[in-house]
Amino acid sequence: MNYKKYKILYYFIKVLGYIPPHRRKQYGGLLGLMFLSSFLETITVGVIAFFASSVSDPTEVLQSRYIRYVHQYLDEDFLSSPGELIGTLSVLVVVCLIVKHSFVMWQQFWTIRFSGAMEGIFGEKLLNGFLRMPYEWHLTKNSADLIFAIALRKNIASGLLGAILQIIADILVVSFLLVSLLIVQPQVSIIVMVCLGGGAVGIYHVIRNRLDSVASEVLKYRKSLHSLSTKCIQGVKDVKVLGKESYFANDFLSGAFRLARLSGTQNVLGGAPVAVLEIIGFIMLTSSICAMMLFMDYSTASVSGTITLLAVTAWRILPAVNRLLQKFASFRNSLPNIELLFGYFREIELDQNRTIGKSDTDQKEIIKFDKELQLKDIGFAYANGTKVLNSINLSIPMGTTVGIIGTSGAGKSTLVDILTGLLKPSKGSILIDEIEITKHNTDSWMHSIGYVSQSPYISDATLAENIAFGVGHSKIDRANIRECCQMAAIEFLEDLPDDIDTEIGERGVRLSGGQRQRVAIARALYNKPSIMIFDEATSSLDVKNEKAIMETIYGLKGSQTMIIVAHRLTTLEKCDLIVWLEKGEIKMQGDVEQVINAYDQMQRKSA
Ligand code: ADP
Repeated sequence: MNYKKYKILYYFIKVLGYIPPHRRKQYGGLLGLMFLSSFLETITVGVIAFFASSVSDPTEVLQSRYIRYVHQYLDEDFLSSPGELIGTLSVLVVVCLIVKHSFVMWQQFWTIRFSGAMEGIFGEKLLNGFLRMPYEWHLTKNSADLIFAIALRKNIASGLLGAILQIIADILVVSFLLVSLLIVQPQVSIIVMVCLGGGAVGIYHVIRNRLDSVASEVLKYRKSLHSLSTKCIQGVKDVKVLGKESYFANDFLSGAFRLARLSGTQNVLGGAPVAVLEIIGFIMLTSSICAMMLFMDYSTASVSGTITLLAVTAWRILPAVNRLLQKFASFRNSLPNIELLFGYFREIELDQNRTIGKSDTDQKEIIKFDKELQLKDIGFAYANGTKVLNSINLSIPMGTTVGIIGTSGAGKSTLVDILTGLLKPSKGSILIDEIEITKHNTDSWMHSIGYVSQSPYISDATLAENIAFGVGHSKIDRANIRECCQMAAIEFLEDLPDDIDTEIGERGVRLSGGQRQRVAIARALYNKPSIMIFDEATSSLDVKNEKAIMETIYGLKGSQTMIIVAHRLTTLEKCDLIVWLEKGEIKMQGDVEQVINAYDQMQRKSA
């Protein structure tokens, strides 16, 4: 039993299950179009063969049963002379070709359009799925691999659905042509079937295992080249400063050369059936002609008709059989990619089932922060077992500004990720106005947080689009943008050529570190958060810029509840409460003077 073949069938059925019902109907419609175009193809081939035999011996053709049918059912005087016969058939050949080609073009347009739509649907399924996966899952993945997986969506769209459509179309063409050949020339068609069928199956069996192993190797190398280039382009600063350009370039080149050799082998293996079948096809054609002329007593019209039928059939059947074999080979090439994508689909589905559950799909709760945020006995360990937080108890009344300090690795960022709902505590609970954060209200809690990180992401878009991140251009609240710019003290707005509609980011106006932080603060304020979290937001700035940004942050004091994580103690002077975190535990908490003095002393001692 060919296990791989059934795997493709399994994925095909799964894919059909994923696509929306109206797209499944469209797919069925495309199959109908394929059937019709195969039928037109067969008629055209038959008419051309009939035309050829009429040209070689019109008198005999005029007495054939086909013309007798015409006389019987249409008109007795129609097609009664050789001139009329050849003239009518010439027009018929041209009409058939025009109709067939127009139909095939129309059908191809819909097929390509369908494949494009499928690419979009599966690309969205992956992107949306990845974005909805827990943050912890992302911590265990390589971002380049996820981007690469989205780029592989073509393997499902054209590599699986499109290929199956093409396979069905080619099977139909081959069957239609063989059946008509069988009706007209039974002996010859048996030779065709045995030679072509045997040849096709034989060559496919010889190369399939080698194709499989080459396909997995090709995927491995493509993935690693993609990962390598993403890694060094993202880290270009370090690459340049450390002078590692040649190291990465050489690494890329050696991988690319290995991939080139594999791609060559893959191409030869994929193309081998074409060459073998072409040779078999021509042996078949020439030996049939010899057999008919030398050993069988056929008339000239019959021989030339059969030769034309054979030639025209070979002209259509050979490419169809070739395409069939190539599609089977490309299935094997796409299989590792399809398996990779289905691996992600499974992970996404598993997570959706785990977080939503079957019975509580729409139990989404809104959570509001009006009084107090409490952390009760919070503990956390990463997936690799690293225990980071232990018994954290903390209470943050609404409207207060809390500073978090601690040496590097103390667990500050992890605590912030837990507070934002990105990470789920391994033990303990977070309470908002006495209501526990659960899977039903995590989204609502996350949306009420304004978060500013150390290196905020500035996209290639206008200032307004960067502030109203993820809001369509027409839906942006421009008055709110201006208010947020003012609160975030974006004084450079005056210098921008198109005001809030100026393009910023990689291809637009380049912003300084301080300006980026201000954009991030305005972004955090845009959704009117009930709590703002600054995670080392000023750590990468110089002292002057840090001071200016901190003044902006403290300007929000009173109207906002704020949590500020910082490593420079001077930046936390205006906080209401300081929490000192050490080795995953709260070592001390209290007012600024008390905690900062103790922390300062500890640092002096250890220095
Ligand atoms: P801080 O922000 O105080 O410097 P972090 O919260 O970043 O500390 O890290 C606390 C500890 O957790 C460190 O020992 C760090 O190595 C570990 N850690 C951080 N991220 C991960 C992760 N994704 N997987 C495993 N361990 C991690």
